[in-house]
Amino acid sequence: MEIAAGPDRPIVDADSEAWWAAVQQRKLMVTACAACGRKSLYARPFCPHCWSEDVALSPATGRARLYTWTVVHQNAAPFDSRTPYVVAMVDLEEGPRLMTQLEGCAADDLRPDLELTAAFREDDDGFVVPVFRPLT
Ligand SMILES: [Zn+2]
Repeated sequence: MEIAAGPDRPIVDADSEAWWAAVQQRKLMVTACAACGRKSLYARPFCPHCWSEDVALSPATGRARLYTWTVVHQNAAPFDSRTPYVVAMVDLEEGPRLMTQLEGCAADDLRPDLELTAAFREDDDGFVVPVFRPLT
């Protein structure tokens, strides 16, 4: 998978390549552990709960709840063109907590435990990133 270099692009390594490839297909994945049954993120070749290496990517439902957030009003390029934007930590239904952006909602309407669903933003260069929106 080729990703244009830039400060707003992830560093994709061997551990995260399959996860980012799924995101490009608009699929959100979590790492599922066959030994203990727990799910985790970020993508890595072992389970952070029991250290088993018997793990594989598994589709997530995309359902999540808002844990915490902040509104970014100022930032340097290339993020300045997106301000204001909401950076959030969301708890996926499967358990892992994910840092992401929220879209499609006013900051004043955010509250803890707000029900969210995964969405996918395609940037100008075609790169897809996972974001979340309020569940309607
Ligand atoms: Zn495990």
